Amino acid sequence: MVEKTITVRVCNMCEKTDRAVRSYTIAEGGRNLRVDLCEEDAGPIERLMATGERVGESPTKPARSTARVKKAAPAKKVASGATRRGAKVMTVEEIEALRRQS
Ligand SMILES: [Zn+2]
Repeated sequence: MVEKTITVRVCNMCEKTDRAVRSYTIAEGGRNLRVDLCEEDAGPIERLMATGERVGESPTKPARSTARVKKAAPAKKVASGATRRGAKVMTVEEIEALRRQS
């Protein structure tokens, strides 16, 4: 019998292991944070993103530079290219605003 250790990414909010999570990159000032959220907990963020301005890696729209929101810098401990590809960028303020809403 071989023992295996499996690392599972879980939602930062509910920490449930039985659901798929998506990675979001939150940028605020000089901080870039990654959070993993399940579909349920990402709901407010997804709604906000429908109205947000896309910055950084958009090939279709020219990015407008703002001081506050910026493309996620490669962190020291980034998991893999696959997980970074779908990462969204939003500010902490935006997330806090959403939390208050819901
Ligand atoms: Zn969750």
